[in-house]
Amino acid sequence: MSGQGSRLLLIGAPGAGKGTQAALLSKTLGVPHISTGDMFRAAKAMGSPMGVMARKYMERGALVPDKVTIGIVEERLQQPDASDGWILDGFPRTPGQARALDELLARLGQSLDAVVKLTVPRDELIRRLTGRRVCPQCGANYHLDSAPPAHAGICNRCGHQLEQREDDSEQTVMHRLDVYHESTRPLIAFYEKKGVLHRVDGTLPVGKVNTAIVAALRAPAAAPVKAS
Ligand code: AMP
Repeated sequence: MSGQGSRLLLIGAPGAGKGTQAALLSKTLGVPHISTGDMFRAAKAMGSPMGVMARKYMERGALVPDKVTIGIVEERLQQPDASDGWILDGFPRTPGQARALDELLARLGQSLDAVVKLTVPRDELIRRLTGRRVCPQCGANYHLDSAPPAHAGICNRCGHQLEQREDDSEQTVMHRLDVYHESTRPLIAFYEKKGVLHRVDGTLPVGKVNTAIVAALRAPAAAPVKAS
């Protein structure tokens, strides 16, 4: 993709497939996959003060305060491996985070190449999230119906016992989806106005979503929407 599209954001509701697609794109484009959710989970697992604080929000499906989240992203985007690009997954999630990202990029003399919005209906998101099981040891993901492990409850890759993420319980999933609608959805219009937004159907099989994203990144984004 000759450097084009090397600074990307993936936007979409929890369960839309941002993490899966970001990992694939990271390999194709050779730039790091930066997931704020993964960073918070790692901090939580280490028991650092930030992890202990983030956990209180994560376990109820609420957003970690902007100040903390913006701080970790600012630090991460200035690491040497991110100098030629990155794929942000799960950030920004609020208008304040989006503005902070704009300001940071301006300071760094960088620009955002594209924003990919993955669209999946609510019922399918609930099915995906509540059926998800993860391996706490190696990070592999499974789904009880659509991608079950070979032996129930056991990771195919490393043999560890699978778990349900504490924020994938049905009640917390509902709250996460509401939070997405209230806080994150407005960002779609924000990026549409900038003329960098690409919409991709996230209900297709994983490989087809990847192909659709790569094709979208080669095509011009929808024309910027003029403020009325
Ligand atoms: P994710 O893995 O992206 O679904 O994120 C898991 C949880 O981490 C979210 O439900 C939030 O509690 C927290 N989190 C991740 N990214 C952000 C963000 N950009 N802003 C605030 N909280 C976040």
